[in-house]
Amino acid sequence: MTTQVNYKEPAPIMNKENPFESMMERFDTAVNLLGLDVGIYKYLKSPTKQVITSIPIIMDNGNIEVFEGYRVIHNDVLGPSKGGIRYAPDVTLDEMKALAAWMTWKCSIVNIPFGGAKGGIKCDPTKLSIHELERLTRRFTANMLDVFGPERDIPAPDMNTNEQTMAWIMDTYSMHSKRTVTGVVTGKPMILGGSHGRREATGRGVMIVSVAALQKLGIKSTEATAVVQGFGNVGSIAAQLLHEQGVKIIALSDINGAIYNPKGLVIPEVINYVERNSTLAKFPGAEAITNEELLELECDLLVPAAKEDQITSKNASKLKCKIIAEGANGPTTAKADPILQEKGVLVIPDILANAGGVTVSYFEWVQDRMGFFWTLNRVNTRLERMMDEAFVNVYKTAAKYDVPLRIGAYILAIDKVAKTLKLRGIYA
Ligand code: NAD
Repeated sequence: MTTQVNYKEPAPIMNKENPFESMMERFDTAVNLLGLDVGIYKYLKSPTKQVITSIPIIMDNGNIEVFEGYRVIHNDVLGPSKGGIRYAPDVTLDEMKALAAWMTWKCSIVNIPFGGAKGGIKCDPTKLSIHELERLTRRFTANMLDVFGPERDIPAPDMNTNEQTMAWIMDTYSMHSKRTVTGVVTGKPMILGGSHGRREATGRGVMIVSVAALQKLGIKSTEATAVVQGFGNVGSIAAQLLHEQGVKIIALSDINGAIYNPKGLVIPEVINYVERNSTLAKFPGAEAITNEELLELECDLLVPAAKEDQITSKNASKLKCKIIAEGANGPTTAKADPILQEKGVLVIPDILANAGGVTVSYFEWVQDRMGFFWTLNRVNTRLERMMDEAFVNVYKTAAKYDVPLRIGAYILAIDKVAKTLKLRGIYA
């Protein structure tokens, strides 16, 4: 005898437009539509493992300082867990739990054999020297030796961590294993077993699903207009690749401001300008507008690729785009969802749109384990195939349940993990 879930988050929490609460609201909606057994629901809400560790290091001045580190494995039913490690003063266990769950759904949607995890260290990396950062990373890795592993849990870079951080983790893990274990992390430098195309993967994935969505709406790429918010790794690559597809990019922004040219911006020129000036503000040949104005421009495609909570219940009704491709994590709040649905905007949700990064991380792990490295062309061709397949699967699921793509994506992701769990059974 099984009991179906009919779950509703307590109202006080939902009053805040918080990205993680937003995610849980969509999770609950999808679970209710799937008619998931209450036991499975409880299982999927509870992280498999939560580790809190003290990390003592000797600072450059000779004093001992102790930091707190976290690793949360949300779920490893589909395979080893995968997720980034961030260094920031406001890292908390609760945030890690939410981000780890996000990774479970993302990996499930793109059909890669990984579970979800996230980790971090509460620290201010701007106040640490390179040597202190290295000691912090190595001691954290040593404390996590029985958590990390190419067949157990595979970290990647996230906020304020990078290729060098991954190289230190890989080296520390390898020293303890008495052999070089490249597959323990992804996002490594190429020379240490990194993959071609990894840096561009998220932006490329955004471009692939955007083109697929334009096709669904019968809009030719060469006749489409787009606006991109954020010009970092995801935004600049997505803008460049959309530009190469013939899409006219009419506006761009970064933290310092936004630029607009209805005739279209030449993206390589903007990239060149940003390399010289560190910002796109004051780019010649474009009008300066605000970030708020940028989001409300009339266009076919809007790509929020900056940060969370950009499209909210306050501005959603003012948007004039046909498609939103969420390059950033959590750029749209749960309260904005019904407003966008009412307006008929096709939203490609973050857990699908920005999953290109984790997909090429998977390729990196596969290449490390094979000891055989692919060409850039092979990486990009396989990425395109997997993103296209994921888009079609999400689209079909959304149509079947008559829900927006976001809920379709959650249904697809949760259903796969729940089915796998049922087949594996509960070990007792
Ligand atoms: P980034 O730091 O390289 O770039 C962020 C960009 O956004 C910068 O241009 C910054 O100036 C701009 N920005 C910040 N605040 C802004 C604001 N208020 N208005 C307009 N622009 C603003 O970061 P990134 O790696 O490109 O990540 C962007 C988003 O994509 C984040 O939400 C991240 O979690 C998500 N994401 C990134 C990856 C990846 O592989 N890098 C993968 C999945 C998801």
